[in-house]
Formats: sequence, structure tokens, C-alpha cells
Amino acid sequence: LVDEDGHVSSTIFAEMSALALRTGAVNLGQGFPDEDGPEAVLAEAVAAIERGENQYPPGPGTLDLRTAISEHQRRFYGLQPDPQGEVLVTAGATEALAATLLALVEHGDEVVTFEPFYDAYGGLIALAGGRHRTVKLRAPDFQPDPDELRAVVTDRTRIILVNTPHNPTGTVLDRGTLDLVAELAERHDAIIVTDEVYEHLTFDVRHVPIATLPGAAGRTLTISSGGKTFSTTGWKIGWLSGPRELVTAVSTVKQYLSYVNGAPFQPAMATGLRLPDAAFTAIADGLRGKRDLLSAGLSAAGFDTFRPDGTYFIVADAARLGFDDAAAFCRALPELAGVVAVPLSAFCLDRHDPDYASLVRFAFCKRIEVLERAVDGLARLR
Ligand code: PMP
Ligand code: GLN
Repeated sequence: LVDEDGHVSSTIFAEMSALALRTGAVNLGQGFPDEDGPEAVLAEAVAAIERGENQYPPGPGTLDLRTAISEHQRRFYGLQPDPQGEVLVTAGATEALAATLLALVEHGDEVVTFEPFYDAYGGLIALAGGRHRTVKLRAPDFQPDPDELRAVVTDRTRIILVNTPHNPTGTVLDRGTLDLVAELAERHDAIIVTDEVYEHLTFDVRHVPIATLPGAAGRTLTISSGGKTFSTTGWKIGWLSGPRELVTAVSTVKQYLSYVNGAPFQPAMATGLRLPDAAFTAIADGLRGKRDLLSAGLSAAGFDTFRPDGTYFIVADAARLGFDDAAAFCRALPELAGVVAVPLSAFCLDRHDPDYASLVRFAFCKRIEVLERAVDGLARLR
């Protein structure tokens, strides 16, 4: 959390969004949509405020939202957590992750994640006093080597923290990897924590929650949030579900972090989770064309690109353009191309890891005309 010179680090997203504001460049760094999500969801938040739902809601979240979360998991995955005790509403997926790690990790326990990893994992594991172990996802397909996964999970492992669809690579972990995680967790008596915030943002493959694998549900905490699914990243309503005793432990910590979360947003999320199936596929359908537009633009500009199966991020390699240091490249990119992006090294334990040195993450959750402006700018790199 503190760099070599003793400076408290700010997140890469804060840094890159500030750079975009300062330079007027197109912000493909921090991942957030530039269009509103479903009208019914927005309208329900306004209606809830007008109905006077403006005071503390129940600690675990409103029963109606917990019920909607359970119904959503049953509809899409055949899972059925009990809204009374097996579902907890949190301040985004971030608080679900924070409360989980603080509740379950004892000083020195190991937490295994894939690498690169969503930056909050590193900070939160450190805050919880855990030791962070990683298994690499390498280009071009960003699936882990099974032997490397087997080697890193041991009896010291308290948690295997999975993230699929995966930020920042856009990979959807394959079934073999999920099976192996479940098998290793059982063998070493580890808990699986799975961050599935991009569950509805997949393109040509289906999202498989690890909790649906045979025998996995009993040791798995599943985390998601409404931010990506309903394009409401600023609302910070997330949730977690799993075995009662684990959810109880996490709830105990959560009550001292945020206590409760945004009352009027909870009925709005419940409305969203009850929308017809078409509302869920519409988001990915809209993003697929955007992915293809940006991917083609990056290739035309001279990048090697790695097509993501999910999320709204695409990874590109700047090496062929003559840039070996993606961090330096990203600092120069606003000037060179009028675009802001994020170096993959920001998601790594070793900021100079050669496996990721020239890789850059671009977000494509932006309006077509914004992506076209970015593609025009990137063409100047040629
Ligand atoms: N996990 C991953 C993988 C993410 O990409 C994000 C969004 N930045 C989060 C968690 C945080 O989600 P929320 O905004 O719901 O806290
Ligand atoms: N999930 C988004 C990203 O990875 C936003 C992260 C953030 O702002 N903390 O870009």
C-alpha cells in the first residue's frame, strides 16, 4: 500500500481518470459505462426516494432484495441460497471482498489469486494480514497452467480467490480450471471466494459459477454486484451468498465497515434482478460490437490484441509498435493518441514482470462515437 519511496499509493484507476480529465483524452482506462442502464431500474430508485425509503435499511439488506438475489441465482444457475442467512447485501462487490477477507484470513494465512488480479485484491489481502500467492494467466489465452495452480495451493492456503469473467484480461476461465480449483480447495480444505461481477458480460461462451460444480457450494462464497449488470457502478450495491456459517462470519465484519447500504438503491436492484432474460443478454449484445470495433482499431494501429470472451476490457500488446514498457507508454498515450489506458503491470505483484511488460488494458464500455474517436487517435501511432 506504500511504495518504495514511502508514498501512499493511489489506485491506478484514480490516477488514470485524473490523467484523462487533465488531458481531455478519451478515457478507456477506468472501466465504467458512459450510458445509463435499464430505465426501470433507474425509475425504481427515484420512486423509492419519493416513497420515503431514505433511512437505514436492515443490516443484511432488505429481505426483498435478498429474495431477488436468490431468485436470480435460481433462474440463471439453479442455485438457491436462503435469503434468510445465506445472502448478504454489501457496499458493492468491494465491501463483500473486504469483509470476507477480514473475516476469514488470519495473520499469515495464504490467499491464492490469479495474476494479473483486480487491484483491490492486493490491498485487501494486505489489510487482512494475509500472504498473497498468485498463479499466472499468460497471453494469448490467459488460462492458468494446471501444474502451476497445483503447486501454489497447499495446506497453508486459506482462500482461493477466483475471478471469472476476469478483470483485467477478459478471460472466462475454462471448465477444467474451475474443476481443478474445486478439487484443490477440497484437498487442502480451503475456502473458494469467487468474484463474478461480470457474470452477465460474456460474448461467445457461457458463464459457469464455480458454486454450481459438484461439491463446491459447501465451501464457496459467491460475490457479485449490480454495477456492471445494470450500468450503475456509482450505486455500490453488491452481494455475497454461500454457506450460512461463512455468510454469518462475513456479516459480523460487514456491520462494522458500512453497517448498511443505500436504502433506495436496494428496491431498484431487486427490480433489475427480476427483469426478463432479454434485459440480461442485451448488455452483452451491445458490448460485443464495441469489442469488435476497438479490437479492429487496435489491430489496425499495430497492436497484437487478445480477444476477450467476457468483461468490457481488451488487452493489447504494444511491443510491435516499439513500446516495451506499458506503464511509460500509458503515460505518453494521451499525447500520442488522445487515449487513456491502463498498463497490465498495475494488476501484478511485480510491477516489472516481463510477462506483462508491454501489455495494456483498454475498456470498451463506451458509446460507439467515443470508441471511434479513440480508434482515430490510435491510428496516429502507426
Ligand atoms: N471485482 C472486479 C473484478 C471488478 O472489476 C470490480 C469493478 N471495478 C469490482 C470487483 C468492484 O465492484 P463494485 O463496484 O461492485 O464494488
Ligand atoms: N472495475 C473498474 C476497472 O477495473 C473500475 C475500478 C475502480 O474504479 N476501482 O476499471
